[in-house]
Amino acid sequence: MAGDPFSIKGRRVLLIGADSGIGLACARAFADAGANMVIAGLDQTKGNTLAAEIAAASGSQVSYLQVDVREEDQVAATVAEAVKILGGLDIAMNNAGIPGPAASIPDYSAEAFDNLFAINVRGAFLGMKYQIPHMAAQGKGSIINLASTAAITGLPFVGPYAASKHAVAGLTRSAALEWGAQNVRINAIAPGPVDTGLLHSMRAGRAEVSSIPPVKVPMERIAQPDEMTGAVLWLASDASSYVTGAIISIDGGVVAA
Ligand code: NAD
Repeated sequence: MAGDPFSIKGRRVLLIGADSGIGLACARAFADAGANMVIAGLDQTKGNTLAAEIAAASGSQVSYLQVDVREEDQVAATVAEAVKILGGLDIAMNNAGIPGPAASIPDYSAEAFDNLFAINVRGAFLGMKYQIPHMAAQGKGSIINLASTAAITGLPFVGPYAASKHAVAGLTRSAALEWGAQNVRINAIAPGPVDTGLLHSMRAGRAEVSSIPPVKVPMERIAQPDEMTGAVLWLASDASSYVTGAIISIDGGVVAA
């Protein structure tokens, strides 16, 4: 392997779901590592500010595109525009997600279920659908999806969220099997509790409907979003050139317990 296998300098990255939390931490980390980026999310005004700020701090090229991952035409247009801006696509991260409401299955509305799956599952599916062909055409690529420890275990009172993350893991593994021979690697990270708006809203919702405590973390703390970036940058780089179809726990020991 020539050069530094961990380097992603000059690589072309599309990160969808970059407005906050884990996605924003990863966007900063990719740019600091010298990647050129298109970041995408729901809020064009906030996104323009973020892109300018990240570009100024890192010296990397960063553009922002508005996208709602529920909409196929928007995801297709975002990937096409990112390829145009960057001159190709080496790395993609499908990070958009919501916690959905907290309720037992009989109390969970079908509309809330459908919206959750439209973002967490359909969004990741649509991302891969339009990212993979560009990577396959160049014979190389790395896609990182967002699973969760809830892709491995159940999570009471947010069952559809856990189901959505199991689905992301299934899509990730299946896509990895389809595209491994074309050297398009597809993996997911499975974070435990991370200090973001999503976690706090999920915990507040669950506390209202259940006395079941949050999952016990062997390391006895929640993670900060930037603790997700090391594994993500590694999965994006050639240092993980033989890793595909993996669901990598970054969870303070949650699934080991
Ligand atoms: P977050 O709320 O900060 O980030 C979620 C991002 O998804 C936001 O930037 C939001 O704008 C974006 N998003 C939501 N709906 C969208 C849509 N329709 N189109 C485009 N973007 C949309 O929370 P986070 O914790 O950083 O979540 C990031 C990912 O990590 C999610 O997929 C989440 O399920 C996953 N995750 C989080 C935790 C945790 O404890 N925080 C644990 C495991 C997995």
